Amino acid sequence: MSELVDFNELKENIEKVLSGIREAEKISGRPVGSVKLCAVSKFHPFTDVIGAMKCGQFMFGENRVQEADVKFAQVADYISRNPETFSAAPELHIIGSLQRNKIKKAAEIASCIQSVDREVILVEAEKACSKIGKTLKVFLELHTGEDSKSGYATADELLKSAENIALGKYPHIELAGLMTMAPFTEDEALIRKSFAELRMTGEKLCKEFPDLGAAALSMGMSQDYRIAIEEGSTMVRVGTAIFGQRNYA
Ligand SMILES: *Cc1c(COP(=O)(O)O)cnc(C)c1O
Repeated sequence: MSELVDFNELKENIEKVLSGIREAEKISGRPVGSVKLCAVSKFHPFTDVIGAMKCGQFMFGENRVQEADVKFAQVADYISRNPETFSAAPELHIIGSLQRNKIKKAAEIASCIQSVDREVILVEAEKACSKIGKTLKVFLELHTGEDSKSGYATADELLKSAENIALGKYPHIELAGLMTMAPFTEDEALIRKSFAELRMTGEKLCKEFPDLGAAALSMGMSQDYRIAIEEGSTMVRVGTAIFGQRNYA
């Protein structure tokens, strides 16, 4: 786990990222306020989540289900002991690759799974959600060039899953949009290409399944969120620029 960031530093970081987002919206002619911020708290302690909530940030991204489960139970406990402190509840998004045996737990604890990259996640999440009467939001993740293997390998495979959702196979799953990770590179052209690919897949999705109404595009991280917004992102997932470096030791 990483060092606790100082609260004032955390506040400054969040303000900096939010103003960076607003600037990128203006530059690309996007409506101000159209891009949401998901604060990626992985590897940081629950006290940092509480700190961010005190700054008005309520949407959080976590990679690992086990870590998220423990951390957000601590957050819930803190909130129950300090019920007056917050104007809203935290919204947990799972954004990392999901092993099959973690899907049920992920569906139970998260508001949204952004890293859906194969049909079995939908099948297992539907099972878990129907048992507890919950509707889960999902993003379908497209592999557009990052080094890891996560994401549907092709847009066609992704659209096939979207079709199954559109056909009503998963009544407790709501398709919210698409997600991708750009390659880790200095080459801006490659990064743009990756984001543009997700945008085009989103356009295809809306055309083929107009009833889904899913148009959100989750793309952009600390290093590339401005570029992502220029390429049409409606949600950026920012960790390091808010919470500082992660200590993977
Ligand atoms: C860790 C992670 C992020 C945040 O990355 P930063 O570079 O720290 O902003 C965003 N999305 C995914 C899927 C991640 O795993």
